[in-house]
Amino acid sequence: MGPLRAAAARGLRRGGGRRAASAAREGSKASAACGGRPAPPSALHLFGDPAEVEALRGSLLAWYDKCKRDLPWRALAVTEKDVNRRAYAVWVSEIMLQQTQVATVIDYYNRWMQKWPTLQALAEASLEEVNELWAGLGYYSRGKRLQEAARKVVSELAGQMPRTAEDLQKLLPGVGRYTAGAIASISYGQATGVVDGNVIRVLCRLRCIGADPSSPAVIDRLWAMANALVDGSRPGDFNQALMELGATVCTPKAPLCGECPVKQHCRARLRVEKELALASQKLLGKLPAVPDVEDCGLLAGLWEFPSVPLAPGLQQEQQREVLLDHLQAWTGQPVPAGSLRFIGEVVHIFSHIHQTYVVYSLSLDGDVTLDLASCPSRWVTEEEFRASAVSTAMKKVLRACERQRGEESGRAKGSKRKRGAKPVGSTRPGTQLSLRTFLRAPNPP
Ligand code: SF4
Repeated sequence: MGPLRAAAARGLRRGGGRRAASAAREGSKASAACGGRPAPPSALHLFGDPAEVEALRGSLLAWYDKCKRDLPWRALAVTEKDVNRRAYAVWVSEIMLQQTQVATVIDYYNRWMQKWPTLQALAEASLEEVNELWAGLGYYSRGKRLQEAARKVVSELAGQMPRTAEDLQKLLPGVGRYTAGAIASISYGQATGVVDGNVIRVLCRLRCIGADPSSPAVIDRLWAMANALVDGSRPGDFNQALMELGATVCTPKAPLCGECPVKQHCRARLRVEKELALASQKLLGKLPAVPDVEDCGLLAGLWEFPSVPLAPGLQQEQQREVLLDHLQAWTGQPVPAGSLRFIGEVVHIFSHIHQTYVVYSLSLDGDVTLDLASCPSRWVTEEEFRASAVSTAMKKVLRACERQRGEESGRAKGSKRKRGAKPVGSTRPGTQLSLRTFLRAPNPP
């Protein structure tokens, strides 16, 4: 597949911005995979100022103390003195809350804790009893796994709950990274962060991160951010506050920014306010100032296909010239102009920013060694692309290429039936290939 280039300190241009992006294919000769890492994210996407982090923690915790919902598992986490019972109480709530709304869980939780207030009591229950109480909560395997894990704690760990997030995840079946972090921070005061859907949304908005949060690389960065951000003296409350904020204020649609306790630290909100101010200036006929590119660097630190900003109004021939010059400088060798094919346009919208990518594909024969010193780049396979920190926009670019190839493949088959045309998949320069051959085969183990 095409090389990806780090987009450090570069990103989306303001509304109506256009960039030419190219996805290149290696030729029939295998090309060595190049190294290179994405440049670190710009300061815009990090919590780099310790004073700001302190202020954010303080504002969030003060809001949580005042506005948090009264929930039975929160009360038990505060009043229960026995550490094993406390951890068990939090654990049960976290399992029940997976895929189920808080309002539905409350009654089930109260009945469960009344019937089985300890790990030992749950370990002695029959599966039938567990299923009876769980009836209506859905995803029955959760109750069964909870009981199996409780039995394990009683029989193999002498009734002692593992005391760290790492051990909870390692030793308890059904306890993943999030649940382990929640139990350890809330029950034991371990200063470890948590990342769930609410936390992802809040962190991405606070730091204006437009990357695809389903990407493992992005998730890793969010975990690192959550671990760095968590309050050392009240980690459990801090984690719950962040989740509570996502559930009640920073909601997926129509967030209540006016009521948000951390709005002064929110870069997505700042960005939207700037866009609105620019729009009003436009309405009043005033020429808006050109924004600093760093100011809109939503994709900083992510990999992207080689791309170049386009001036407005360029015709396709002029776009090709600009892109060919850019690719030539990037590969350090002449680029076959005839192999550059127009794919189409991809529009990506983040918040109020509209970015249009004019997509071209390029077929390259032979090895192309990338100069990592001048520009961090690497060749990747399809698998590596999917595992890399790439933006949703780049995924759309790849999908556009896939669609084009699908259509061409269909046309080629029809034409072959009629005229015995050459099969799609030839490596002749300039021909378009199916995606499988477009992407370089993974290196053998
Ligand atoms: S200011 Fe708005 S978008 Fe930002 S964190 Fe608060 S609620 Fe979410």
